Amino acid sequence: MTPEETKAYRSAQYQKNRDKVLKTANEYYAANRETILAYKKAYAAENREEIAIKKAARYQKNKDVVLAKSKTRYSDKSPEILEQQAEWRLQAKKEGLAHYGKNGQLQCCWPECDITDLDMLTLDHIVNDGAEHRRKKFPGGASACTRLKNAGYPEGFQTLCANHQLKKETERKRLERKQRHAKDAILIRAQRRPSLNSKHVHETKYHTYQVRIQGDYYGTFKTLEKAMAVRNAVLTQKGMIQ
Ligand SMILES: [Zn+2]
Repeated sequence: MTPEETKAYRSAQYQKNRDKVLKTANEYYAANRETILAYKKAYAAENREEIAIKKAARYQKNKDVVLAKSKTRYSDKSPEILEQQAEWRLQAKKEGLAHYGKNGQLQCCWPECDITDLDMLTLDHIVNDGAEHRRKKFPGGASACTRLKNAGYPEGFQTLCANHQLKKETERKRLERKQRHAKDAILIRAQRRPSLNSKHVHETKYHTYQVRIQGDYYGTFKTLEKAMAVRNAVLTQKGMIQ
């Protein structure tokens, strides 16, 4: 057989047994998924530059086809493929939420809560530190779970049911409000006290007390009593208090 004949023969064989060949390949992939993915990941890490160059060259060569395809990619997908992708997303979510769940199980981490329903569970940032995290609220979506899995499941997350997510947020807001009101109360008390501000002692934003008399600075004190004592001493010395 000439090489062309061999190629034609192989192609014909493939077309004839296409379903069988694909089935075998799919089964092999399913059975060895972890190994294959680990190999691919290691290969990609070792040959990053080479891959990028090849990819760019391939893109330039097939630019028109690629762009045309990307426009119709979603609508071209069969319902079976879309269904399969939805299933993968569900699996990713299940795996991630189980990892961050109570005792590594698919369960809400709140004490004594026994919600295990995947549809009712969400991923939670344990520490609500800063607006950045609050803006990027993790909805427990599959993409968040996949991202965390790829990052080796870093610490700082937990699985909560939607109700306890709500409760946690309510408690956070309540605490924030209490702290704000406590701080405001101190300021208001200070403003009401006639001896303050008007008479040479000023409360700072750090809740310490500064003594300033006729433009001169006489120190900052932790307690109002100390500040008042210094103030009185200075005023007496200056003859401003008899
Ligand atoms: Zn719960």
